[in-house]
Amino acid sequence: MNEYDSNRIYESVSKIGYEKTEIFNEANCYILNTCHIRDKAKEKVYHEIGRVKKNFKSKEKPVVIVAGCVAQAENNEMIKREPYIDIVIGPQSYHKINDTILNYIKKEKKQEQTDFDTELKFDYFDKIKNNTSKISSFLTIQEGCDKFCKFCVVPYTRGPEYSRSFHIIIKEAKQLIKNGSKEITLLGQNVNAYCYKEKNKIFRLSDLIMALENIIELKRIRYTTSHPLDMTDDLIKCYEKSKKLVPFIHLPIQSGSNRVLKLMNRKHTVEYYLSVYEKLKKANPKIEFSSDFIIAYPGETEKDFDDTMKLVKKINFINSYSFIFSPRPGTAASNLKLIDNNIALKRLKLIQDELFNHQNLKNKIMENTTVDVLVENKIRNQNKFFGRTKYMTPVIFNGEKDMEGKIVPVLITSSNQNNLFGEIKLNKNTKVA
Ligand code: SAM
Ligand code: SF4
Repeated sequence: MNEYDSNRIYESVSKIGYEKTEIFNEANCYILNTCHIRDKAKEKVYHEIGRVKKNFKSKEKPVVIVAGCVAQAENNEMIKREPYIDIVIGPQSYHKINDTILNYIKKEKKQEQTDFDTELKFDYFDKIKNNTSKISSFLTIQEGCDKFCKFCVVPYTRGPEYSRSFHIIIKEAKQLIKNGSKEITLLGQNVNAYCYKEKNKIFRLSDLIMALENIIELKRIRYTTSHPLDMTDDLIKCYEKSKKLVPFIHLPIQSGSNRVLKLMNRKHTVEYYLSVYEKLKKANPKIEFSSDFIIAYPGETEKDFDDTMKLVKKINFINSYSFIFSPRPGTAASNLKLIDNNIALKRLKLIQDELFNHQNLKNKIMENTTVDVLVENKIRNQNKFFGRTKYMTPVIFNGEKDMEGKIVPVLITSSNQNNLFGEIKLNKNTKVA
């Protein structure tokens, strides 16, 4: 979502004369878009500001802006800790970014914008054309969360759940497709909680998927991140009805122990998760899953961890994210007693070995088969291309000119944990979409 937000910020600040530069040390304005989900992310921000400070030591100081969830959570404290920062602006105040920069320049007075004005923000950005021109584009449809898992900052940094207008999303999708997008990933912190009401009609994620299905130039539809509780039957049905919705779902569970899920306030059980898994597999047996795991959540016993390992062995996740619990200030779990770090690290290693092993095997199985790859770009200075399978697996392959945006058959010749490698396999009868 930060990638989507950053592009929208660029489009906004271009109205007051700024243009994007790849030469960092020449920038007049430096915007850091930040993530606050784990503590390391916050420390990275201060580290990065330190780097900017050093690089600009003998040059005119740029306007330094911290945007995103760290800005929202830390607000003025950031400026106190690092006076090199001039502006902090939270994710629901981006519509004010131009005025905030101009005010700062005029008055040379530090600025802080951290209100939750989600509706005003989207009203503002809806009027600015989305000029992103990528083969695979992100499109935010929903923001925020009302679920309050005890470990998570999202309800505090992104605010309450908000769903954008159905018609405006479709309009923006058409614009992205006009710009060359062949794949759209619909985004939200709880994307499948999307619910837009207009007069007597309610629009859900399934309605968006089926509306996008009808746009001929669009080849693939994805969405992320979904919550198990919002995996409703209408959405599951899309896996039978839609030809463009990819058979790959990122469905976080966090733990394989009901006791830990309860401690986390996850509001679903392992059995419920498995029932959703079964329903989806029934709708399309080719669906593959990935997930998120929090390891060593306060109170997690060896037995709880074993239950998570059992779940990982039961569901062959195609890939997954696993992190040690990171206490976030202001959340319900922030002051709970932490599990010994050595135990936490041991558990993380065990689960990651298992997950990475699955991932390696899944990729190995693909060797000597031909897969459909949506070509995203040519790799710089190489005669190779980059694309992805329906399952998001990156593929690097030898190819020909003018393939970007096409779905091509690639013969997989080798693999590692993260990538597939191969050669394009075109013959007289091959149809390229
Ligand atoms: N809304 C999605 C759900 O609940 O299924 C997840 C979105 S959350 C923004 C992304 C992931 O960050 C979570 O699934 C969780 O695994 C991880 N995460 C959030 N807070 C964390 C924390 N305090 N420590 C470690 N990981 C955390
Ligand atoms: Fe965070 Fe997801 Fe829980 Fe919401 S449902 S609080 S976004 S982990």
